[in-house]
Amino acid sequence: MSVLGHKLSPLAKHLVKYANVLNTEIELVEDNDPRLEKKAAAHYDSKTNKILIKTSVNFKGIGSEPTLLHEIIHALTVKELNNNPNSKEVKELVKLYEHAKKHISSDVYGMKDINEFVAELFTNDDFINQLKDIPAIDSVKYKNLFQEFFVLFLLVKVVFEKPLYTVEK
Ligand SMILES: [Zn+2]
Repeated sequence: MSVLGHKLSPLAKHLVKYANVLNTEIELVEDNDPRLEKKAAAHYDSKTNKILIKTSVNFKGIGSEPTLLHEIIHALTVKELNNNPNSKEVKELVKLYEHAKKHISSDVYGMKDINEFVAELFTNDDFINQLKDIPAIDSVKYKNLFQEFFVLFLLVKVVFEKPLYTVEK
């Protein structure tokens, strides 16, 4: 899967620009670096604002772009999701995550917590397809849970000073 051919490619590219704004550093590390979870290709460390990425990840089939993008999504969202759990915006996102829990097995990586849920939603085709099979909470407005979450994410101020899109009334 390449970010270029990905259906979320335009948005992904838009988000990548913000990594610079955040001054997030990218550090290439060895496969056995203790800061990486077992089997993880990369990790975002919110304390140091650093993305750690395995040197070898470039040479594996999936390529480094989706991996890097996944970590950039963390860099953009972790602070708000973890520090402001009671904000209206975060509560809305968590509500949809809780709804997804009723339909998707907890073994799926994107269901680990709200942070992985958001990151996988932007970068994992399989996960996106699973969410598309789940009915939306507001089934009048949205076709499925993926669409509902995605539209909501674009509207809330989790990442940006202003929402990416606004709803026309
Ligand atoms: Zn992650």
